[in-house]
Amino acid sequence: MARIFNFNPGPATLPLPVLEQARDELIDYRDTGMSILEASHRGKAYREVHEEAIENIRHILDVPQNYAILLLQGGASLQFSMVPMNLLSEGDTADYADSGAWASKAIHDARCVGNVHIAADSQSDVPRRVPAFEDLDLTENAAYVHITSNETISGAQWKSFPQTQSPLVADMSSDILSRPLNISQFGLIYASTQKNLGPSGVVVVIIRRDLADRAPDGLPSMLSYKSHIETDSMLNTPPCFSIYLLMLVTQFFRKTGIEALYNTNIEKAKRIYDIVDESEFYRGTAASDCRSDMNVTFRLANEELEETFNKEAESRQLIGLKGHRSVGGLRASIYNAFPLEGIDALVAFMKDFEQRYG
Ligand SMILES: *Cc1c(COP(=O)(O)O)cnc(C)c1O
Repeated sequence: MARIFNFNPGPATLPLPVLEQARDELIDYRDTGMSILEASHRGKAYREVHEEAIENIRHILDVPQNYAILLLQGGASLQFSMVPMNLLSEGDTADYADSGAWASKAIHDARCVGNVHIAADSQSDVPRRVPAFEDLDLTENAAYVHITSNETISGAQWKSFPQTQSPLVADMSSDILSRPLNISQFGLIYASTQKNLGPSGVVVVIIRRDLADRAPDGLPSMLSYKSHIETDSMLNTPPCFSIYLLMLVTQFFRKTGIEALYNTNIEKAKRIYDIVDESEFYRGTAASDCRSDMNVTFRLANEELEETFNKEAESRQLIGLKGHRSVGGLRASIYNAFPLEGIDALVAFMKDFEQRYG
């Protein structure tokens, strides 16, 4: 078996023991005589999977009981409109920090629903920064304040979170479960699963329960947090297999614990940033006080050299390092499941490449 080092930004690498377990259980799930792919979503076997996935997230992130954890579909992208549909009443305003590509998409969709105020705009600084707290121009009594905790494309990340009067809403698609959080600081967190939590197909929503009551009458059930809370995310047939993998991945990370995950993530990112900082050859894209522990972005002197870098890396089984087409450069996406050996392989390659081309 040859597993390459997969630096793809999402879907992304999964823990090998999880894939092995899924393989071993695929045909006959725990003596039920059928695959979990075939099981009824109302049956006992799947119910337990569903509940354990939620319980694992609650445990790892220490989510208080006044928050519901939902497993929904439509990806983080549907949350761009579901959040304002549920939380932004007519006549109210929602504050958004525009920190880059993903924040912009959230803003676009929120504007389809209601009033949006841009509380901070770091677009001109993309890909270097996310906004600083002190630059946030917040609306009094805003319906909520929306941020994107990690801009996956530019590689800029909020290193801590502002205390806001209005509920803080965060798109954590690319850094959930990578560091400890004080959940009570947030009104709502959403994250699609294909970066840090499992395969694609699910978006995890952590919502303070009282906020779900804000939804206007007449909101269709599938778009209403309240109806998903009332049915334990079983309003319709859930994506059972994706949730099964989410359960296995969170079970795996639960054994590690959030502090250890965080420390490893910092160490992984540091090993790459150290090379970037020490050399004139590599240039980090994001400013050092907000560079991401999940998506390490850097550039070389010109695009031709970047292409050569990427090609040679691929021939060494280092896959997925090409930066997003909108910003160019190189990007190493190193989510929770990305192994330390892969970091060391990349670092060794970077040193060697610099010696030959520097
Ligand atoms: C990947 C990503 C999304 C989009 O997720 P989908 O599941 O494809 O909708 C949204 N926000 C951020 C920050 C992301 O990294």
